Amino acid sequence: MQRATTIAGVREVLKPLRAAGKRIGFVPTMGYLHAGHMSLVERCVAENDVSVASIFVNPAQFGPNMDLDRYPRDPEGDGAKLAAAGVDLCFEPAVEEIYPEGFGTWVEVDKVTEGMDGASRPGYFRGICTVVLKLFEIVRPDAAYFGEKDLQQAVTVRRMIEDLHLEIDLSVLPTVREPDGLAMSSRNAYLNDEDRAVAPLLHEALTGAAARFREGERSADALVAHVREVLARAPAIAVDYISVVDLRDMQPVESIDGDACIALAVDLHGTRLIDNIILRDG
Ligand code: AMP
Repeated sequence: MQRATTIAGVREVLKPLRAAGKRIGFVPTMGYLHAGHMSLVERCVAENDVSVASIFVNPAQFGPNMDLDRYPRDPEGDGAKLAAAGVDLCFEPAVEEIYPEGFGTWVEVDKVTEGMDGASRPGYFRGICTVVLKLFEIVRPDAAYFGEKDLQQAVTVRRMIEDLHLEIDLSVLPTVREPDGLAMSSRNAYLNDEDRAVAPLLHEALTGAAARFREGERSADALVAHVREVLARAPAIAVDYISVVDLRDMQPVESIDGDACIALAVDLHGTRLIDNIILRDG
């Protein structure tokens, strides 16, 4: 596996491969890789001639009180995992490479970013869309891989790809979970034993609501009430939002008619955890 820290370095590696007609797949990450990330990487390697991963903890998507400074990092371990999985190129830029002095152009996607994480974290999706478009332009992939774990992000990136006519096949892959149901996340590393023990309640609450949906419940309020009730079993869990939204445009729905999802974000002693479950008829 080759490693590049500069944009020029990435272009130097990829230009001849692209000219030779190779199909390039891309997995953007913030590193501290776990099995969820690796599921995207494995799919990318299987479906493309050349696979590129990026590791970049993007300051533009962190609010002033977020965990930018303590976000976990393991460049050595990440490199070993990516190389073993068959990745051809890992791009690990410094912040100044992506946001040099004088930087002043931002990408904003409306509507799908209004609620949930967009409402709770001002500037979050602007930061994500800006860095993802930059990375797309640097790597110029034919295919890109994102996780359903960050569903609003994936829907936002899909909107951006369509709106800006980017020639990129987007794949959104299922959430990889720990055996007890907790969605894998780099931030799980922050959890102490007590918080780790209650964190699986998120998935339990969502699967309980999905079971009620399958039994015919269509009221968003009723499903949210169920999720809230399960989460209330752990007083340490502070709910940020529990939302039932249309899967295509992330707009809140009152009564579910068509594909939807229940998404939530909570705070567990300073650690932000998100999860979701998709609700489809039939
Ligand atoms: P991150 O490093 O958190 O920015 O995540 C990089 C990519 O991995 C994003 O597309 C995430 O949605 C995806 N991802 C993170 N956690 C998981 C998971 N548990 N299962 C599947 N994909 C994930």
